[in-house]
Formats: sequence, C-alpha cells, structure tokens
Amino acid sequence: MEDPGPAGRQTRKNVVAVVGGGLVGALNACFFAKRGFHVEVFETREDIRTAKTVRGRSINLALSLRGRQALKHVGLEDKIVSKGIPMNARMIHSLSGKQSPIPYGRKGQYILSVDRANLNKELLTEAETYPNTKLNFDHKLQDWSSETGLMTFVRSDGSRSQVQADLIVGCDGAFSAVRKQFLRRSRFNYSQTYIPHGYKELTMPPRDGEFAMKPNFLHIWPRNTFMMIALPNMDKTFTCTLFMPFEDFEKITTGDEVIEFFRKHFPDAIPLIGADALRTDYFRLPAQAMVSVKCSPYHIQDRCVLMGDAAHAVVPFYGQGMNAGFEDCIVFDDIMNQFNEDFSSVLPEYSRVRVPDDHAIADLAMYNYVEMRAHVNSKWFLFRKRVDNL
Ligand code: FAD
Repeated sequence: MEDPGPAGRQTRKNVVAVVGGGLVGALNACFFAKRGFHVEVFETREDIRTAKTVRGRSINLALSLRGRQALKHVGLEDKIVSKGIPMNARMIHSLSGKQSPIPYGRKGQYILSVDRANLNKELLTEAETYPNTKLNFDHKLQDWSSETGLMTFVRSDGSRSQVQADLIVGCDGAFSAVRKQFLRRSRFNYSQTYIPHGYKELTMPPRDGEFAMKPNFLHIWPRNTFMMIALPNMDKTFTCTLFMPFEDFEKITTGDEVIEFFRKHFPDAIPLIGADALRTDYFRLPAQAMVSVKCSPYHIQDRCVLMGDAAHAVVPFYGQGMNAGFEDCIVFDDIMNQFNEDFSSVLPEYSRVRVPDDHAIADLAMYNYVEMRAHVNSKWFLFRKRVDNL
C-alpha cells in the first residue's frame, strides 16, 4: 500500500520532523516518539545499519554521565554501557615511554569509550521500535520555509519531495542546512572558528589477542603544540588520533618521514601500531578539520529548533560534543513538561536556558585543546591532579 505521507499517518499529535539521523537526531526521535508525536526522521545518508561503509567524524568517542542520563531516559543506557570500555584515567605517555595515570575523578568514576557507528545504529533501531516514528534515509534537506515549515528534500537519484511539519528539529550537524534559514534572519548571532589543527585516525591492533596497552585509560601523548590520543575498542584495538597543525601534517609526505616523525615524538607507539601500517595508514585519508560553532537563539518562533552540533559544534578536546547534544534532548524534554508541550513557550525557554550552557561547553572544549596537549605535561599539573583525586 502506498504510504499516505506524514499528514495521512498523523496520530493525535502534531508532526515533528527531525532533520539528521546522526547521534543526536536518532536519540531525539525517541524522546519525541515517547511523547506520542508523529516523528519523521530525514537523513542524508543511506541506512548505516545496512550500508557497506559507514563514515563518521570519529571511530569511537567518550560517553560521560551527561550523555548516559539521556540514554537512560529512553531505556538504552545499559545496552550502550555494556558495549563500552570504562576509562578511569588519562594515561600520559612521556617521550621516554614512561606512563603516568591522572584519574578523571574519584575512585570508581570513569568515562566510557563507545563505538560511534554502533551507538548510532542502536539509536536508530530504538527509534524504529515506536510505531509513530518513520525513518527516511537518502533524504537530504535542501531548503525549508520558516513561514510555512515546508521542507524540500533531494534524493541521490535526483528526485525531490516536499514535506510539511509542525515542528522542525535541526539535528543535521555542524554544517546544518536547517540553520541556513536562521542566518537570513535579523538578530541571529552566529560565529564559526576553524582551529589550525586537523586530525588523523590510526589503528593500534591487538597484541597476542590482547590490548596492546592498558585498556581502561584514555592514552595521551602530549607534545605541546600537537598530541596523539588513543581510546580502546571492544575488538581489543585502540583508535589513535593524531591532532596536529595542518601545516605540520603537510610536511610529512613519505612513509619514511612518517616513521621519522613517530621516532622523534611517539617512539613507544611505533611497535604498537606497527611500522608498516604506519607508513600506509597515515596517507589513507587527508587530515580532517575541526570547527567550533556558536549561535543564538536556537529557535525560530514555534516552528523550528536546533540541537546537537547544528546548534553548538565544539572542538573534540573536552569529549563533550555528543554528550552536550544528548543533554539538549533532556533539557528540551523537561521544558516540554513545564510548558505542557506548547511550542510557542517551549522554544524560547529552551533557547534562554540552553544557549549559555552550550556556549560554556564550547569555551571549555577550546580551553582543553591547550590543556591536553601542553598543560598535562607540567609537573605542577600532575601533582595537582594527584592531590585532587586523593
Ligand atoms: P552529527 O553526528 O554530525 O550528525 C548529523 C547527521 O545529520 C548526520 O547523520 C548527517 O548525515 C545528517 N545530515 C547532515 N546534513 C543533512 C541534511 N541536509 N539533510 C538530512 N540529514 C543531514 N563528542 C563526545 O561527546 N565525546 C567524544 O569523545 C567526542 N569525540 C570526538 C572526536 C572527534 C575527532 C570529533 C570530530 C568529534 C568528537 N565528538 C565527541 C563530537 C561528536 O562527534 C559530535 O558532537 C556529535 O557527532 C554530534 O552529533 P549530531 O547528531 O549533532 O551531529
């Protein structure tokens, strides 16, 4: 039978269009579906649960309490936590190969290393369990009207469709197409900053079937103007991420130069990643850029609201981009309770409450950009952290 479209399928509640089926969009779909709205998710990519290759902004990421609370809200916390690896402390690798732990908090406190693709798949599957939710893949938002809420989507075969929704929730990431309409409006504040550093991911394979380094740590090789970090994966690999100014990435053009660079700055990592793998993997992809986006307000009238990276892309050094995006969903949900789901009151209140907190996370992330690669090297910092965590 032909799908009657969102208006035809409308339940007792309004139609909410979530644009972007990434981490925040998929979670948000669950929050709205739980309330009984008719939810339509529109995602540019094909379904990552069946796609041959899945591209994301990183292979794994750190999930903290902020994000876990949001997962708990939709009954997914235990499932995700069971597939995560606790990281109780940072493990600082000095140039000589000495390793010094710096706990994240008190005994028993930790953040979790989780697989981004798996988390996204679980969230999409959870969203689909609600009969009032429909996932539309291969639907790229091209444009929408802030007057009527009419959205235009294009598909990979060039076809177009138009969809009307009562509320548009922009969860379409740092380069949000939803946000473009905001930029055309008066009194919308917007800034974006690219940092001079880029990043490259490398894989550290298991050794004799076990993790090549201690697994319950976020490993850091701070080298002042650049750094490498490594987070553990369930398959006993580590994903190493090298953060470095683009101009330094560009200076390394051959396999021998990669080895020379690692010998000088990360000698203990060479046997663990493997010299042959390093020579080739380094050149597999170009270094990726990192952007910080701040804007306000997060809403247009009672029609549209931005969440996740679409509202606040942050640099990854505080490990809170996704976590803050997940928290956006809880904050919005609380305000929906307070204002009895009246979008004309909920949306302005959400901007009022949320903008200062998200901007604070963006500032902390920028600060931690220096702390992780430079300050953690100082003896005073190591001493202070140990005393703090006694
Ligand atoms: P995205 O994950 O970018 O998802 C947006 C979705 O929208 C995508 O699926 C995209 O295909 C879709 N889309 C885009 N345009 C359109 C369109 N026009 N129409 C329809 N769909 C569209 N955060 C943490 O909390 N912890 C970490 O440890 C961490 N590590 C990171 C490491 C790196 C290297 C980077 C780059 C980021 C890291 N982050 C981390 C940040 C985290 O990746 C983001 O905050 C998170 O992905 C934001 O989720 P999102 O759903 O808002 O956006």
